[in-house]
Amino acid sequence: MMNIIFLGPPGAGKGTQAKLVAERFHIPHISTGDMLREAVTNGSELGKKVKNIMESGELVPDDLMVDIVKERIGRADCKKGFILDGFPRTIVQANALDEVLKGMNKEIEGTVYFKIEEEEVVKRISARRVCSKCGAVYNLVYSPPKVNGICDKCGAPIYQRDDDKEETVRKRYSVYIEKTVNLLDFYKKQGKLFEVDASKDIEKVKSKVGEIMAKIGGEKWLH
Ligand code: ADP
Ligand code: AMP
Repeated sequence: MMNIIFLGPPGAGKGTQAKLVAERFHIPHISTGDMLREAVTNGSELGKKVKNIMESGELVPDDLMVDIVKERIGRADCKKGFILDGFPRTIVQANALDEVLKGMNKEIEGTVYFKIEEEEVVKRISARRVCSKCGAVYNLVYSPPKVNGICDKCGAPIYQRDDDKEETVRKRYSVYIEKTVNLLDFYKKQGKLFEVDASKDIEKVKSKVGEIMAKIGGEKWLH
């Protein structure tokens, strides 16, 4: 099994790498941010509840998040493993996750920490663009689409997230420092923390993450 968490500040490159790993190892990429944005777009009850919170850069309440993730990791496609991206974000969520997994006879095998400075994430996020249809992630500076404004993969328009304005990005970073950064200690104490220098380019981070995945899951995950 390969039950993995990608941890780090917003804009560190977790989603970018999680998509690559998911493709390579055939396990689902579970992004709680993507799930919430989909709910907002669909105008569901959940979406209505979380819209303003997300726009302000604050965190959605723990009980809501735990319910969403519990349902998601219980699905059949998570049998061989999953990559959690954006969850857990608080100690309460991390403890709840351990409990939920225990009840399923599972556990987290490893947590990959994407280490990066605030100024670099602000720079990355202000140039981030996302496909409105398939969710592919671009960067106007580091990885622009081939045709301006259009997704390479599906041809739909790309857009800037509402919470990707500099002011909100700084707010989200401070929320990360206040509520999420202590998860590093939480997983370190469990002997499950692996660190990658996320300030390097996408290819370098990719190969380092690959090495870590092999360490966590064994060589079979490299083939
Ligand atoms: P996160 O999921 O951690 O919030 P993303 O994967 O969305 O971060 O990446 C944030 C932005 O930085 C995106 O625009 C992405 O294209 C870009 N990016 C991701 N990894 C790198 C990298 N190693 N170097 C430069 N830019 C990157
Ligand atoms: P992300 O796409 O991971 O940057 O998340 C975008 C926003 O969704 C965050 O700023 C939060 O408002 C909300 N969110 C996503 N995941 C969580 C979580 N695990 N706990 C609380 N809020 C979350």
